[in-house]
Amino acid sequence: MLLKAVNDEGWGSGYPVTYSRSLTFVLTHDCPWHCSYCGFRTDAEGLLSEAKLERLLAEAAGQGAKEALLISGERPDSLPPIRGELERRGFSDFWDFANHVADRCAEAGFFPHGNFGRMGEGELARIRPHFVSMGMMLESAEDHLQMAPEKKAAGRVAGIKAAGRAGVAFTSGILVGWGESQTSRLKSLETLAELHAEHGQLQEILIQRYVPNEGSRWPVGKAPTLAEYEEMMMRWKEWAPGVAIQIPPNLEPRWPELLPWLDDLGGISWAKDEVNPTSPWERVEFYVEKCRDAGRELVERLPIYESHISERWLAPAWLPRGLAFRAEVTA
Ligand code: SF4
Repeated sequence: MLLKAVNDEGWGSGYPVTYSRSLTFVLTHDCPWHCSYCGFRTDAEGLLSEAKLERLLAEAAGQGAKEALLISGERPDSLPPIRGELERRGFSDFWDFANHVADRCAEAGFFPHGNFGRMGEGELARIRPHFVSMGMMLESAEDHLQMAPEKKAAGRVAGIKAAGRAGVAFTSGILVGWGESQTSRLKSLETLAELHAEHGQLQEILIQRYVPNEGSRWPVGKAPTLAEYEEMMMRWKEWAPGVAIQIPPNLEPRWPELLPWLDDLGGISWAKDEVNPTSPWERVEFYVEKCRDAGRELVERLPIYESHISERWLAPAWLPRGLAFRAEVTA
């Protein structure tokens, strides 16, 4: 009964599941904030060097990646050592550096997607010509000061709104399994759907399970039950039809059971998950098999979704490359 309804809506059984073959470029782990669940941040690591950037580009080319995922701590250039390094290396600020790395990725044939935490509209407009899409998790529509003392939901909401106004295709999502209630998960998803309603910037949302890593201080909570996942996914499809749902399969081992509602498996890499290094991915063939067992075909996508390959969301230099990829996969 449910699967028939799913098919009538154009998703679920019989429809493809997507993923992106990606390599992560950590611009810096340095971050001024202290989220207690984070296993990513450092205090004084410095910026990605040019030598490492070139090594990563060669590796990505050798492994056939299409997406270059560029990430960092939030507002790293509020830290004096990072500001000093930017100046020494000839960059006016962190966005200048991020655009430089994105341009090298583009020259090497990759599609850059960025996630640098909260950004303002002017910053997003500045970065837009260099990236095909950006992302930032909402995590929760409520503040949780013990867990993330400096992160405010209002700031995240403002950042996602700003992406809509700046014409930046966006990925966001919620974090689950850290002690939240189902009511709070649904409220956070509803907030994301409301944010999407005005400008249509969301191309996908993640329902991302919290997995502690080395350095994480927040205890793991109860993961959603399968029935709770189903409720979240069904409600999301009502609230924001056409906006894909991603569940990272390296963080949620029950993902095959969620395939009736799932649209996307996110970035899959041969290299380590830089944000969740204790949760490696399997080889892509493993996911292909599991999807096939459930009657779904796993197909590759770009970090910019097909729904957003248009002048509205892509800078002029990117549009022909996005359209060419779409023509290639639909040929
Ligand atoms: S989760 Fe992000 S903002 Fe929070 S400490 Fe880690 S890197 Fe910084």
